[in-house]
Amino acid sequence: MLKTAANLANLGTETAFDVLARAARLDAARRADGRSPVINLGIGQPDFPTPDHVVEAAVKALRDGHHGYTPAQGVPALREAVAADLHARHGVEVDPGRVVVVPGGKPTMFFAMLMFGEPGAEILYPDPGFPIYRSAIEFTGAKAVPIPLREENAFAFSASDVIERMTERTRLVIVNSPANPTGGVTPPEEMDKLAEALAERPDVAVLSDEIYSTMLYDGREHRSILQYPELAGQAIMLDGWSKRYAMTGWRLGYAVWPEALVERAVRLCVNDHSCVNAPTQYAGIAALEGPQDAAEAMVQAFDERRRVTVDRLNALPGVRCVEPGGAFYAFPNIEGTGLESRGLQDRLLEEAGVAAIAGPSFGLFGEGYLRISYANSTQNIEEAMDRMAALLS
Ligand code: PLP
Repeated sequence: MLKTAANLANLGTETAFDVLARAARLDAARRADGRSPVINLGIGQPDFPTPDHVVEAAVKALRDGHHGYTPAQGVPALREAVAADLHARHGVEVDPGRVVVVPGGKPTMFFAMLMFGEPGAEILYPDPGFPIYRSAIEFTGAKAVPIPLREENAFAFSASDVIERMTERTRLVIVNSPANPTGGVTPPEEMDKLAEALAERPDVAVLSDEIYSTMLYDGREHRSILQYPELAGQAIMLDGWSKRYAMTGWRLGYAVWPEALVERAVRLCVNDHSCVNAPTQYAGIAALEGPQDAAEAMVQAFDERRRVTVDRLNALPGVRCVEPGGAFYAFPNIEGTGLESRGLQDRLLEEAGVAAIAGPSFGLFGEGYLRISYANSTQNIEEAMDRMAALLS
C-alpha cells in the first residue's frame, strides 16, 4: 500500500473538467444512436479559435528556431508587452521586472497559496468562486475562509464582508472580478473600500484574479488592484491570454508580483516548469501588440449571447437569473424547480444532453444555482434552452 502525503487528500478539483469528460462520452453515445449532440454550456472557454495572426506568430517562432528554454520569468519582450498593455488598459506604470509569465492563470494561484498557506494561516476566498482557490488553500493546510457572494448583490463582493472576516491570522485575500462562476462585477467603490482596509494591514497580501477584465458589459468599469499604488507591496495581479484571446489550450498567463516576492515566484517557476514553451510566448506578444479586432468581436458576441441566455433562463419555470455584468457565465437560481443543483446538472446532461455545472462545485454558497457558460453559439444556446424548458415543464 502506497503511503501518500496527508495533504493530498485536501486537494479539490474543477468539476467542469469532469463534466467535460462525461459530456464527451455521452455525446459519442448520442451520436451513435442517431440522437442530437450534447450542447456544452459547462466548460469555461471561448468557442472561437485563437486569432490567425497569433497562430502565425507561434509558427514563425518555431521556424525562427525558438526551440529552447527561455528565461524562467518569461522572455523580456513579452514582459514588456504586458507592461505596455497594462499601461494602455489600466493607466498604470508597471516595471516589466515584476511580471512573471507562467503556463496559464492557475499556476499563479498555486504559487500564492504555497507562499502564504500553512497550518494556522487563514486565506479568504470568494464563494461561490473559482474552485481552485479553495482547493489550493486547503492543500497547504491553511484555513479557507469563504467570502459570501450574494444574488441580491448581483454577486459582487461587498468590502465589509471581507473586512469582517479578517483576523490576525489572515495572510491573503483573494478577489475576482469579473467573476467565475457568477459573472458578478465588483463596483469601483467596493474596491476602493477594500484597498483602504488592506492598506492598514500591510501584513496581508491580496490576489486579484483579473483574467476576465476585458469582458465587461453595459459600460461597466474594471478597477484593477494595480490602480492602488499604496498596495504595491501587497498586491498580486493575475491575468492571462486564455479567455481574452481564446488561448485556453496554449497555457499562457502572468502575474504582477510585489517586488519582494518576484524572486520567489521565479524560483517556483524554476522548480515547477522551468519556463513557458517558447513559441507560445511569442504568440503572446503578437496577441498583445497585434490587432485587437478578433478579441473585441468575441466580447461583442458574448454580450449578445448573454442577453439571449438571461432572457431564456428567466422564462424557464422555477428559474430566475440576475444579469451578469462580465465574463461569459450566468448563474441562475434554480430553487423554484424543486430540484437540487447536482440532481438538475445530472438530469440535464443525461436526459436533455445539455452540460452545465451545479452551483455547489463552486462552493458552499452555490447550492440552489447552476452555472451556464454562454461561450457557445446563439443557436446552440437557444436549442439548450428549449431542451431545458422541455425537461422542467
Ligand atoms: N481564474 C478564473 C477566475 C478562471 O475562471 C479561470 C479558468 O476558468 C482561470 C483563472 C484559469 O485560467 P487558465 O486556464 O489560464 O489557467
